[in-house]
Amino acid sequence: MQGVEKSNDLLSRLYFSSTNPAKNPLLTMLQKLYRMLEMNFQDEKEREAMTAFARTGVYDFVEDLSECESNTDHKNVSGSSEEDSVESESESEEQIDSHITEDEEEHEDEIELEEPPVWAPEKRFYMNRCYVDNLCTTSISSHCDHRCEQENHIPPNIPIYDGHLHLNENISQSQSDLISLQQTPPIREFHLINNNHKPHQWLITNIPTFSSHVHIYSTVGVHPKYFNPQSVYQILDDLRNNLEISKKNPNHKNKLVAVGECGLDETSSTTIDQQIFVLEKQIDLAIEFHLPLVLHCRGIHLYRKLYDCLRNRVQDKNIPIHWHCINSNANLHIVDLCLNEFPNSYIGINGSITYGTNTENAFLFKNWLVKRSPFLPSRLILETDYPYLPPRNLYGTYDPSCALVGTAVYLSKIVNNPNQNALSYIHSSNANIVSMYSL
Ligand SMILES: [Zn+2]
Ligand SMILES: [Zn+2]
Ligand SMILES: [Zn+2]
Repeated sequence: MQGVEKSNDLLSRLYFSSTNPAKNPLLTMLQKLYRMLEMNFQDEKEREAMTAFARTGVYDFVEDLSECESNTDHKNVSGSSEEDSVESESESEEQIDSHITEDEEEHEDEIELEEPPVWAPEKRFYMNRCYVDNLCTTSISSHCDHRCEQENHIPPNIPIYDGHLHLNENISQSQSDLISLQQTPPIREFHLINNNHKPHQWLITNIPTFSSHVHIYSTVGVHPKYFNPQSVYQILDDLRNNLEISKKNPNHKNKLVAVGECGLDETSSTTIDQQIFVLEKQIDLAIEFHLPLVLHCRGIHLYRKLYDCLRNRVQDKNIPIHWHCINSNANLHIVDLCLNEFPNSYIGINGSITYGTNTENAFLFKNWLVKRSPFLPSRLILETDYPYLPPRNLYGTYDPSCALVGTAVYLSKIVNNPNQNALSYIHSSNANIVSMYSL
């Protein structure tokens, strides 16, 4: 402690007294500060964000969480829309990992009571940032000279295809979350398959506008949770109209690229028979309009029913099928049957593979992936399902590109095949999305 000399003044006596708890004032002060910080950052993710703040000088402020608060069912440190609470995908997360949801809800209550963060002046420099374990997220949106020593980098000449997301859910949020897509040369190309799965959103045409290096392709379909049985014929008529208009559209860029997402969902308020009816009509439309099919299934006992619908309706087995959101809750036996029966079928892997990793189902799912790893690249589609299902290894803003690469990083970690890595999965998934959706 330079500058402090032992003398007889009060301060010096206090400082050098062996019984004084403040014997080492700087250490005591730091310990107190740290304890104060700890009290404010009881959540592990927030501590991580704080560490990142120390490293980068950028912090995603707690008060930004308020945008996504209230009664949402799934929580993360990013801003997601309030509508998440009614969305099936988010609820599947809660199924897998309910204890985390509870913890996070408690934690949220605390946030509401907290004083504004002490770093308020820094807010002027706020920008969206995301962090992923073992991944240089700077390499996704900008450039990195690899001095960061992170394990995974994504070179700028590699395009990123997100096989399944929902940009219409909260348009302003999407625009801000996708901010890292606006980057400096050399420009990375982004291709996003935007699923329009709620009939009342089909008319939304002004989805966020992005730079010319962001390409958005739209699907149209009826999710099993979002139709009213009273108006089912009207909805199916509207769906057909949308497909007909798209078919006649001379501009190839504006054409719908698939029917879906559609399927079966045990948490829907409609009956399974009603859901099967709507699903079968959509399978028929996909066949009639020669379009790929995007499938959603929630509820392990419903996989067989969905598969039977497919087999009963589809004559030409070459129909492209994207069975999205395959995770430890899936009936993997049926997924195997589908992959065998339909040679152009793919499994969509998203952030939900990072949930509930200590469960028996997660262990079985991991083994399933490991055993199939030689064939995985040819049947894999990486997706985010943004704004739902943020991967657990993602901190900060839910940026779909970071989340997608983060999922690839996580996948390569659990599959652990020496011939595969995050980058090779992205390459394969990109090629599969191009082929499946005829982009
Ligand atoms: Zn880097
Ligand atoms: Zn879904
Ligand atoms: Zn979805």
